Amino acid sequence: MSTCLFCRIAQGEIPSKKAYEDEEVLVFHDINPAAPVHLLMIPKEHVDNLLAVEPRHTALLGKMLALAPRLAREQGATDGFRIVINNGPDGGQEVYHLHMHVLGGPRPWKRL
Ligand code: 5GP
Ligand code: ZN
Repeated sequence: MSTCLFCRIAQGEIPSKKAYEDEEVLVFHDINPAAPVHLLMIPKEHVDNLLAVEPRHTALLGKMLALAPRLAREQGATDGFRIVINNGPDGGQEVYHLHMHVLGGPRPWKRL
């Protein structure tokens, strides 16, 4: 059994509110949303973060980026959205399984 939280979510061992799933990708709602729409998009394969990405992952990363606008819109972010990927300690990463935050809805959050 994996000890990685998001691997366990991907395997269904820990429940999540799913927004999208296919063979390679799972999208679920963040448990502690920072915006009206706050999705987490993960590859089902464990990859720590962008620092661990290999050339074979590039198509998957492109697919995830291309999926984001559709999912953001479906979840109610009809007027734009933001993608955030935190990488490593200085990047503020808390869960070490690569994930894209998809943030949308009226903007309560601060500018970068
Ligand atoms: P990071 O800081 O690593 O970029 O983001 C981790 C995100 O995962 C945080 O926004 C946090 O709220 C979310 N999170 C942590 N544990 C869980 C969980 O068990 N379920 C869900 N749905 N989200 C989680
Ligand atoms: Zn993992």
